[in-house]
Amino acid sequence: MNYYTKGIFDMNTPKGILIVFSGFSGSGKGTVMKELINRYSDYYALSISATTRNPREGEENGREYFFKTREEFEKMIENNELIEYASYVENYYGTPKAYVEEQLKAGKDVILEIEIQGALKVKEMFPDTLFMFVTPPSAEELKRRLIGRGTESIEVVEARLSRAFEESLGMEAYDYLIVNDTVDACVEEVHSIIQNEHSKIFRNQEFINRIREELKGFSKDNMK
Ligand code: 5GP
Repeated sequence: MNYYTKGIFDMNTPKGILIVFSGFSGSGKGTVMKELINRYSDYYALSISATTRNPREGEENGREYFFKTREEFEKMIENNELIEYASYVENYYGTPKAYVEEQLKAGKDVILEIEIQGALKVKEMFPDTLFMFVTPPSAEELKRRLIGRGTESIEVVEARLSRAFEESLGMEAYDYLIVNDTVDACVEEVHSIIQNEHSKIFRNQEFINRIREELKGFSKDNMK
């Protein structure tokens, strides 16, 4: 069973892989994702989430996020426009369905950069999803990066660090652990894992059926 057969998405020719990319706040996953899309724009589409949190300096509506009021967000939930949503440090975050569906259909691998509650919901709905978790080399380094980023107050930094511990309890639900030491190495590692994923047997049933059918013509049993 996968996201096509379950009928959640309307599509007949599944091609792209759905990928969940999670990591502690401050792990650098945003930077890694941006660079991955930069280098390999033909392969990947990054889903843009909706959120009720305020834009950070430099963030643009429709680029990093669709910034919504609580009311607007709740309307999206009501209208079933989200694949999943979660509450994270007092704000809502959710994945709009339409774009993901459209990009998968076009053959792109679609990446959801989401936190763990949302990831677990996606796992339940779409078990064929590829799950990756990115972390800095140590907790101390995480704290250093979060403070160094300077985009949040110390209270929010503390809330995010405390949330990181909770998230660490769910890491076993993921398929791959990526240690983000340098962005460059991390991007290449992620790209290579995803490309290998395309070779998994269960993702190639159509090909298998075709070549099996072609080979039938060579089978001794058939030639008799
Ligand atoms: P930030 O406020 O730092 O941009 O994001 C906070 C957390 O929310 C991050 O862990 C990020 O991955 C997660 N997040 C972003 N978009 C979504 C979404 O659509 N759904 C869920 N469940 N989490 C999201």
